[in-house]
Amino acid sequence: MSPVPGRGLAKGLAVTLRTMTRRSVTAQYPDAQPELPPRTRGVIGLFEENCTVCMLCARECPDWCIYIDSHKETVPPAAPGGRERSRNVLDRFAIDFALCMYCGICIEVCPFDALFWSPEFEYAETDIHELTHERDKLREWMWTVPAPPALDPAAEDPKEIAAARKTADKLAAEQAAQAQQAEQAQAGTQAQADDGTQADSPQAPQGPQAEPPQEGDA
Ligand code: SF4
Ligand code: SF4
Repeated sequence: MSPVPGRGLAKGLAVTLRTMTRRSVTAQYPDAQPELPPRTRGVIGLFEENCTVCMLCARECPDWCIYIDSHKETVPPAAPGGRERSRNVLDRFAIDFALCMYCGICIEVCPFDALFWSPEFEYAETDIHELTHERDKLREWMWTVPAPPALDPAAEDPKEIAAARKTADKLAAEQAAQAQQAEQAQAGTQAQADDGTQADSPQAPQGPQAEPPQEGDA
């Protein structure tokens, strides 16, 4: 069967007309900023205080684009007679975003919540070397990380909050017990003071009394 002449042209024009009458969805970036979802994978922020230099993120990164240097430091014992401890001190933490494929594995595996996604994405550079962000830059990204979504009202408390609440309850119970002991001690002191006052006060003589001499006893 031979094709109808001009059918393709009519179909093409129909598509053009349909598209022309639809509302445009093009965002005029950079004049208009895009509305990104809060958990957008834009860049990775480092919360250095939480990092224990365990190297898990660097080992698991499929692109080997996390660079960590550290040294060990001896910490004096917490109490006299205790043992000295050693701890890792971070010297360098860098991520090469020219290699990163934004898989998020480093963030998932970090056991100490030191890495977070930030939705910031405007860090294009003309020099590829500038895409290696050192620790100071990674820390700056932390301040652009959105707050986590609120917990479901029926959800269990996070373990950190549950532990803090348990400690606060224990402390309150200890303080209440101390206050009770202090009250009891005060009541005991008061009772002793009252007894002492009674002992010092003049009292009628106790026991058999010498009878007054009667007439004719001599
Ligand atoms: S997001 Fe993936 S590729 Fe990028 S640094 Fe983390 S683990 Fe490596
Ligand atoms: S996994 Fe987390 S704690 Fe361990 S080195 Fe990486 S960022 Fe630091």
